[in-house]
Amino acid sequence: MAETYRIALLPGDGIGPDVTAEAVRVLRAVEEKIPELRFEMEEFSIGAGEFLKNGDPLPESIFTELPRFHATLLGAMGMPGVRWPDGKEMTPQVDLRERLGLYQGLRPTYLYHGADSPLKGRKAGDIDFLLVRESTEGLFSTRLAPRDPKADRATDTMLITRAGAERVIRAAFEIAMKRRKKLTLVDKANVLPSMAFFRQIFDEIAPEFPEVQADYVYVDAMALYLVQRPESFDVMVTENMFGDILSDLAAALVGGMGMSPSADIGDQYAIFQPSHGSAPDIAGKGIANPVATILSAGMMLDWLGGEAAKRGAVMIENAVRKVFAGTARTRDMGGTLTTGQMSDAVIAALE
Ligand code: ATP
Repeated sequence: MAETYRIALLPGDGIGPDVTAEAVRVLRAVEEKIPELRFEMEEFSIGAGEFLKNGDPLPESIFTELPRFHATLLGAMGMPGVRWPDGKEMTPQVDLRERLGLYQGLRPTYLYHGADSPLKGRKAGDIDFLLVRESTEGLFSTRLAPRDPKADRATDTMLITRAGAERVIRAAFEIAMKRRKKLTLVDKANVLPSMAFFRQIFDEIAPEFPEVQADYVYVDAMALYLVQRPESFDVMVTENMFGDILSDLAAALVGGMGMSPSADIGDQYAIFQPSHGSAPDIAGKGIANPVATILSAGMMLDWLGGEAAKRGAVMIENAVRKVFAGTARTRDMGGTLTTGQMSDAVIAALE
């Protein structure tokens, strides 16, 4: 039976349009290989460019459009020079997560070739973990609060609600059940009351998943262990800001931001995007690494969940593994391939 999926495309700013176009090419190539799989894609403008055109980086109309789609593929948002009058950067991608309740930020980290890691003695597959970043509260909770420029103090709030913690921790246990059944809570429960509360909720939920080996690591120690022994972790769950920082560290272990896909999942909506930002320094030059976005498109197919879609997800993952077993790399990883040539290599490896 044919599976047809409606995909909203939000290419955004900087290298966002470059890498989104390549992920679309890969999706179209997968569609050609799997006749039961069909995509209907439609593009929408949000981001700093949209602000410059129409005065709003995240037009309200997007919230009436998105319910028509099964999933969304996003490029990158924001330009350093385009700011609100108070000087703050526009972050429509973060606003989207909050508005759509995308509380599970899934950041998988996988090493495709030993030579791409700054760590010694690791080979393909040795680094393979998934960070679940709470994405609607935590230390980001007061990010939109006004700041008095004359005040001589400023504060941020680490907001942990019972409902917010329960849903992300339960989701992380469920993901752990599908992987190697090991879940590590990353917190700072020894110092921050909000984090002690987060751990309390983790402890309450853990008995629902007796097969999962659950443990805790403080966030500062996790920064150390991810460099010393990343192979000892499978699934991790943490609050918003800790997850933001650790996922960049994780990307560095496997070749950088260009290799780091992500998914933001809620109960009704899901957005798939590379972990990197708009990288304005290389926008439009044809040298951005499209692999993070291509892998995000693969995560989207897996999440869509139909039999043909899941086959497409495996096809993309295997193609990237095949390409990275060789020496083809974009410039950010020491190679010479252009954005388009890297996608060509992935498309040629689809089978
Ligand atoms: P944000 O705050 O939105 O995460 P940022 O400005 O901190 O974004 P990025 O835009 O992610 O950071 O990128 C930082 C640098 O990494 C870029 O300037 C660019 O040189 C490099 N980079 C990021 N993504 C890629 C990519 N896909 N291909 C090649 N280089 C990249």
